[in-house]
Amino acid sequence: MGTDGVYARVHESSLRDFVDRFRDWMAASESDLAPLLPACADYDARVEKARRLRELLYEAGWGRIGWPEEAGGHGGTILHRAAMYDELFRAGWGGPTVFEHLEIVAPTLVRYADPEFTRAVLPTFLDGSESWAQGFSEPEAGSDLASLRTRAEFDGTDWIVNGAKIWTSWVKYARWCLALVRTGTPEERHRGLTMMAIDLRAPGVTARPIRQANGNDELGEVTFDGVRVPPHQIVGEVGGGWRASMYLLAHERGTLSWVRHLGFRENLKSSSKSMSENSDRQVGEAALQLLGVRSTAINLLAREASEQELGPDSAFNKLLTTRTEQTVYNALRDIDSARVAFPHDSDEDSILQQEYLFSRIVTIYGGSQQMQLMTIARHILGLGNA
Ligand SMILES: Cc1cc2nc3c(=O)[nH]c(=O)nc-3n(C[C@H](O)[C@H](O)[C@H](O)COP(=O)(O)OP(=O)(O)OC[C@H]3O[C@@H](n4cnc5c(N)ncnc54)[C@H](O)[C@@H]3O)c2cc1C
Repeated sequence: MGTDGVYARVHESSLRDFVDRFRDWMAASESDLAPLLPACADYDARVEKARRLRELLYEAGWGRIGWPEEAGGHGGTILHRAAMYDELFRAGWGGPTVFEHLEIVAPTLVRYADPEFTRAVLPTFLDGSESWAQGFSEPEAGSDLASLRTRAEFDGTDWIVNGAKIWTSWVKYARWCLALVRTGTPEERHRGLTMMAIDLRAPGVTARPIRQANGNDELGEVTFDGVRVPPHQIVGEVGGGWRASMYLLAHERGTLSWVRHLGFRENLKSSSKSMSENSDRQVGEAALQLLGVRSTAINLLAREASEQELGPDSAFNKLLTTRTEQTVYNALRDIDSARVAFPHDSDEDSILQQEYLFSRIVTIYGGSQQMQLMTIARHILGLGNA
């Protein structure tokens, strides 16, 4: 089916029809999808498979669905993307890895970036040829993001950026970094920040991977030494970076939980073969929490699809999702601790160990769990100095 055929009909069909047609496509494309399996323990190889999956989806038109036509998509909403991810995971074709950032970064580009710039870069993100990193945290600015020090000064032609970012997920693979930088004074705190897209191939950029406890170097550190950024790469307004970054973080804490819970679900399902009666209670608890994440995520997806703001409720989703992730991987560890502790035999077990170890740190990214609790207390429950 040509790409026009696939998405000329997105506007006129129900989500149910969409899912049926996507299933038909997966069945008809089995020979193209088959090389994506089995998943490899080697992280670089997994990233390459995720890139190939994006390429296949894009070529067939599915990868453009859920993104506005004026930005290079085929129309539709986040509900189409969510249904597609659900089907891909269910069918065992794997998930997005570095392209998880599509769900974090791309909505902000669509909402705040220069439309021509978005139209130029979004298709290369969607087709897997280029990925993005998010550069907010710095060595001395994490929870207190408004204290960040990476600076950009306008020289009459371009913005000149100097400073350093850290814990930058997937920077090793990224072409672009959506960064938050200081264009005002330190005293202006969050009012003196601006968001910009920095080309990681520009002179003056150095990216260095950071090896994690699970052996992967998914995180990184990036320094900017006199890096030139043209004005059309400002995302939102100069001095308006806080607003754009809160919009981005609402997606990272909120709608992203949909994609993340699908991976946990498949891991819980695939480990069921080793479960004994003794593990019933733990597995039941994990399954129940997964259902909770799914329900609250659907609520946020529906809000996003109807163009309502996600707002501080996303903090609740982030908290629930990370706690669920730990419940799931704790259950898998307890069901078969040898598999998680000594994964010598298979790629599948090595991946499980990597994901178990990764689940130890998920209460930190996107804002630590203490900060999410603070948001809930202040902005949802109205406690303290809201
Ligand atoms: C897996 C992973 C991926 C990440 N990816 C990215 C990325 O792609 N881009 C990016 O910009 N950043 C990324 N980060 C960084 C992340 O956003 C920061 O680590 C996080 O915001 C916490 O900041 P920090 O590490 O400086 O810790 P700190 O802010 O120093 O916090 C240390 C501890 O003190 C607590 N704390 C701090 N302030 C308060 C307070 N006021 N009240 C109560 N408790 C407080 C925190 O909860 C935490 O437990 C990632 C982190 C991880 C773990």
